[in-house]
Amino acid sequence: MSNRPIYLDCHATTPVDERVLAAMLPYFTEHFGNSSSLNHLYGWEAEAAVKQARELLATTIHATPEEVIFTSGATEANNLAIKGVAEAYCQKGRHIITVQTEHSAVLDPCRYLQSLGFELTLLPVQSDGLIDLTQLEQALRPDTILVSVMAANNEIGVLQPLAEIGTICRDRRVLFHTDAAQAIGKIPLDVEAMKIDLLSMTAHKVYGPKGIGALYARRRQPKVQLAPQLHGGGHERGMRSGTLYTPQIVGFAKAVEIALAEQPEETVRLTQLRQQLWQHLSQVDGIHLNGHPTQRLPNNLNISVEAIDGAALLLGLQPVMAVSSGSACSSTTIAPSHVLIALGHSEQLAYASLRFGIGRYNTADEIDKVGQYIVATIASLRWQIPSRRYQTV
Ligand SMILES: *Cc1c(COP(=O)(O)O)cnc(C)c1O
Repeated sequence: MSNRPIYLDCHATTPVDERVLAAMLPYFTEHFGNSSSLNHLYGWEAEAAVKQARELLATTIHATPEEVIFTSGATEANNLAIKGVAEAYCQKGRHIITVQTEHSAVLDPCRYLQSLGFELTLLPVQSDGLIDLTQLEQALRPDTILVSVMAANNEIGVLQPLAEIGTICRDRRVLFHTDAAQAIGKIPLDVEAMKIDLLSMTAHKVYGPKGIGALYARRRQPKVQLAPQLHGGGHERGMRSGTLYTPQIVGFAKAVEIALAEQPEETVRLTQLRQQLWQHLSQVDGIHLNGHPTQRLPNNLNISVEAIDGAALLLGLQPVMAVSSGSACSSTTIAPSHVLIALGHSEQLAYASLRFGIGRYNTADEIDKVGQYIVATIASLRWQIPSRRYQTV
């Protein structure tokens, strides 16, 4: 294990915490029942476990258990929220507002709706990655049915002002959805105080299992109407059919419970590690910090480097560390990160970028090793091609 690269890609996914795994295991074997089988003990056991998990997740965001719909992850939750609202409210209006820096699991359902005749406004962001609230207000129209703005960005970690957005939307009677895949368990979320109507979650970014998530959909003041996207046995109040995946649901709740209990100390620790990494990297000439310096996830650092070939840099780092360049979700396509382009960066700076997601198991020693290695790698790449200078932005 020790010679494997140091993992610093926690915005892509995280390992399952041993405590989470231990909570899940009995539900694969001994307590394997179907939570809909209410005629016998096996079903009751599964149902009780799901109920407990649902209550915990609801409490975490100040919702009620009936407002939690389990899904296969945040992608499905986003699809259900966006397409489900669009279908249910298309008589009222056909205008949706979202942001250029959203995850593809928000942008692509919105673009799909656009292909069906809905109108889409993609708000730009300021150079720090935050939206301009005045622009949001100006974008709202009488036929706007949904505003979707993410809680925390998966590339630059920037935290959007949810409470302010919620207030603007509520005043104009427009539903507010937030993709909180990166935020759950990391920052406090309160659907009441923040006036959030729909919120997407996932387990695997907080040391829970992959393949499980949830959508919160408000049931009172206002009650959100949703058109289900999966039809079948009528699970989850008809909103999402399919036998509930009990072990994953148990693991999801356990992961969020642990993250919340440890959040205060972990936030301090991660912020220190991030600061330590930045101390190393800020020595490099022509290095840029992407995204707001403080209004961001404590474990996120995203940098761009001038006068360097992004692909060569990543290749040089791979033996020692696992980090991503641009968005992990689009790393199969060779396009510069749409998030960094939205910040106003040139293509070169967008390509020559690194995203660090520091995690629960990273140590100060690892951060020093990584920091020193990156500084040395950049120096050696620049030394090899000294004449290769890109235009400074
Ligand atoms: C990871 C992520 C998703 C996708 O979540 P899955 O559970 O993997 O489907 C959606 N939005 C954001 C912001 C993410 O970081």
